[in-house]
Amino acid sequence: MSALIERKNSDRQSIAIETTDASHFAAIKRRLTAVQRQWLSSFGFEAAPGTFALIPDEGGKLVRVLVGVDATDPLGALGAMPRALPEATYHLADEGVLKDRLQAALGWALGAYEFTRYRKARRAPAKLAIPAADLKVLAPLVEATAQVRDMVNTPTEDMGPKHLADAVKQLGKAHKGKVREWVGDELLEANFPTIHAVGRASHRAPRLIELTWGKASDPKIAVVGKGVCFDTGGLDLKPADGMRWMKKDMGGAAHAIALAGLIMQAKLPVRLQLLIPAVENAVSGAALRPGEVITTRAGITVEIDNTDAEGRLVLCDALAYATEQKPELIIDFATLTGAARIALGADLPALFANNDDAAERVLAAGRTVNDPLWRLPLWRPYRKMLESYLADIANSGASRHAGAITAALYLERFVPENTPWLHLDTYAWNDADRPGRPRGGEALGLRAFFAFLQKKYAG
Ligand SMILES: [Zn+2]
Repeated sequence: MSALIERKNSDRQSIAIETTDASHFAAIKRRLTAVQRQWLSSFGFEAAPGTFALIPDEGGKLVRVLVGVDATDPLGALGAMPRALPEATYHLADEGVLKDRLQAALGWALGAYEFTRYRKARRAPAKLAIPAADLKVLAPLVEATAQVRDMVNTPTEDMGPKHLADAVKQLGKAHKGKVREWVGDELLEANFPTIHAVGRASHRAPRLIELTWGKASDPKIAVVGKGVCFDTGGLDLKPADGMRWMKKDMGGAAHAIALAGLIMQAKLPVRLQLLIPAVENAVSGAALRPGEVITTRAGITVEIDNTDAEGRLVLCDALAYATEQKPELIIDFATLTGAARIALGADLPALFANNDDAAERVLAAGRTVNDPLWRLPLWRPYRKMLESYLADIANSGASRHAGAITAALYLERFVPENTPWLHLDTYAWNDADRPGRPRGGEALGLRAFFAFLQKKYAG
């Protein structure tokens, strides 16, 4: 059920929403009737951000809504309204302090989201009627965001490696893409040893899922997503509070799948390769042990310092495989490190890039679409922290410092220096409800990357 609909001039039932703030409120009051002014003052409405007032006409019928907003936050401005306003259809009045109507409408739609797989919706959201052209831009973004949220919110039993494969297959079917996968021992036969090693302890087989789409003659881009459907930490077991939300460790895969959907729906002129290494990092007699050495697909040997640094392991074989197709751009999404959250908090995904131009462009795209990212450095001297005494590299080290950077430096080893590569270490989660950002699974960085790719390839 969409909270956005097309605005028709014939719709006379639609109720106007006027956005305002403390400094514009006096002028609005002068336009109102004495009864309406009395009504507003009866509950002390002063147009503070996040507050709203229903304005009746003389007959008591709802004719207008005043919403107090912070005009510098267009995305959050109307995010609470779909669940706060009475069920009806609304539109943005021509007056109002909020100038970015597109972002405001997006925030409305994102705030209307509710995860209803396991219980009924609390109520139907209020609907916002917007111009057809805006709806055309927003509908795919809203759908893609809901897809990420739904996938991340779904518990592991219903969102295992096979479910990720099903999601990719569905996408392939919808857009006539070609889907391949390697499951269980096929990963060993096809030389994806790290994906197999991380996933082999689970009763649900690890797999690598690949979707290819587009003309072979178009520029090749690879999109990779970390699909760790549950992360116990492996034998280096996480404590209970660190494990509680680890169903979300496939958030990178959800972002990659949703981005692939947006690319294909927009028919961007690219040759797309989507890669999802999908595993459960479980504990059993077959579990990967600390101290083991794995020869990765790229031929680089890696010593397992910690079985909880598994995301980079499943990604490194996928990145090596992507590289073999000689793409002109490689993007990966991963809920990779807690260190990225310590550095930047929940709302700012950490961007790493081996190419300044590509990094600047994706950061700029993020600012344009209110989907901010923050760049952290691939600080080469920290490679020392991943030194192994017997293998080419270790998957983690003794130092607790710069964990997001060392994780990115690990991945960088598997990408050619002259291929632009963008790595996003994202949280994929909202810890608490905020307007437009419901608690639970979240797309963070998805719109930024799509805007970047649209600008780069669609002009
Ligand atoms: Zn882990």
